[in-house]
Amino acid sequence: MMAQVSSALIDIQSWRGVFVYVEMKDGKPRDASLELLGASHKLKESLQEEITAVILGKDVAEFAKILASYGAEKVIVAEHDMLGHYTSDAYTKVLSKIVLENKPSVVFYPATPNCRDLASKMAARLKTGLAADCTDLKVNGNKQLVQIRPDFGGKDLSEILTKTRPQMVTVRPGAFKKLQPKDSKVRVQKVKVDLKPEDMRVKILNVEKAKIEGSDDLVKSQIVASAGMGFGSRENIAIFEEFVKAIGASPGASRPVVERGWIARDRQVGQSGKTVAPKLYFAIGISGSVQHRVGMENSEFIVAINNDPNAPIFKFCNFGIVGDLFKVLPLITEEVKKIKGNSASS
Ligand SMILES: Cc1cc2nc3c(=O)[nH]c(=O)nc-3n(C[C@H](O)[C@H](O)[C@H](O)COP(=O)(O)OP(=O)(O)OC[C@H]3O[C@@H](n4cnc5c(N)ncnc54)[C@H](O)[C@@H]3O)c2cc1C
Repeated sequence: MMAQVSSALIDIQSWRGVFVYVEMKDGKPRDASLELLGASHKLKESLQEEITAVILGKDVAEFAKILASYGAEKVIVAEHDMLGHYTSDAYTKVLSKIVLENKPSVVFYPATPNCRDLASKMAARLKTGLAADCTDLKVNGNKQLVQIRPDFGGKDLSEILTKTRPQMVTVRPGAFKKLQPKDSKVRVQKVKVDLKPEDMRVKILNVEKAKIEGSDDLVKSQIVASAGMGFGSRENIAIFEEFVKAIGASPGASRPVVERGWIARDRQVGQSGKTVAPKLYFAIGISGSVQHRVGMENSEFIVAINNDPNAPIFKFCNFGIVGDLFKVLPLITEEVKKIKGNSASS
C-alpha cells in the first residue's frame, strides 16, 4: 500500500509545466485561449512552471509570436492539412501524443463547444480526470492546483483537486483576463504530425456559418448592464433599454428574465449563460444568486440597484443603490443623457 502511494507521488512529480490549448476561431487564436495564458501567469508565481501554448491547425505557426505576446513562454505547433477544421479524431490523436511526449502537469482548455468535446476525449484517452467548466483557479498552500466550479445545481462552489496527471481543466470564456500584449521572445517547437485518412471517422465536407443574433459584444463589452426580475414585466424592460442605450452598455439578463422571453436567451449572464468581466457591470433588480454571481463577479466595478437592503448582491457589489429601480433608473438615464449631451455640444 505504501509503495503504491510513493510511486504515484514520484509519477506526479515527473509531470511538469502548464499547457494552454489554443483554439482557432475565424482564422486566429480565440480570445478564450489568450485569457488562459493570462490565468496561467496569475498562477505562475505559486506553481513556478513553464507556460506552453499548444496550437494545432493548418498554417498556424505564424501565430506563435502573438501567443508569446500574451504570455506563452514556449509554443508547440502541430500543422497538417487534416487539422484545417476541428475533428475529434484528428485533434485527439495529435494532442494526446504531444501531451504524452511532454508530460505537462496541467492542460487548460477554454470551455467552448469544441474544446469541451476535445477535453473529454483527451481525458478518456489519457485515463485522467477532467474538471469541466471551471470559473476560477487558485493554488493552495501545498502548491496544488485548485479548480473551482459551481456545483449542486449552482448552489455551491466546489474546489477540485486532481490526483492523476495531467490535470485537465476546461475554463469558462471570460473567467480570466488577457494580459496586455507585449513583444516577447518565444521558443517554438514544431512537431511532426502523422495523420492518415483512416484516422478520421468524420470528414468535413463544407462549413456553413449559421446566422444567429450576435451576442459576442456581451462578453467583449467594457460596460454590461443586466436586468433582473425586479422589472416585473416585459413592458417595463423599456426603461432598461433606454438606460442601456444612453450609457452605451451591452444588455444582459438574469435567467428568469430570459426564460420569460423579456430579453433574448443569448444575453443570459451566469452559470448556465455567459461569463462576463467588463470594467463596469450594472445589476438592476437582480438578487445576486450564486448562479448569477459566477457569471459576473470578475467585473472590475459592480453597481447594484435593488429595493431590498438585504439582497445578496449588496454583499459583493462595489456600489449599491437601495431603491426602487423605477425611480432610480430613469434619473440615472436622464443624468447620463445630459452629461453626454453637454460633452457632445462642448
Ligand atoms: C442549475 C441552475 C442554473 C442557473 N443558471 C443561472 C444563470 O446562468 N443566470 C442567472 O441569473 N440565474 C441562474 N439560475 C437561477 C438563479 O438561481 C436565480 O433564480 C436567478 O438568478 C434570480 O434572478 P433574479 O435575481 O433576476 O430574480 P429574483 O431572485 O426574483 O430577484 C429579483 C430582485 O429584484 C429586486 N426588486 C424587486 N422589485 C424591485 C424594484 N422595484 N426596484 C429594485 N429592485 C427590485 C428584489 O429585491 C430581488 O432582489 C440558475 C439556477 C439553477 C438551479
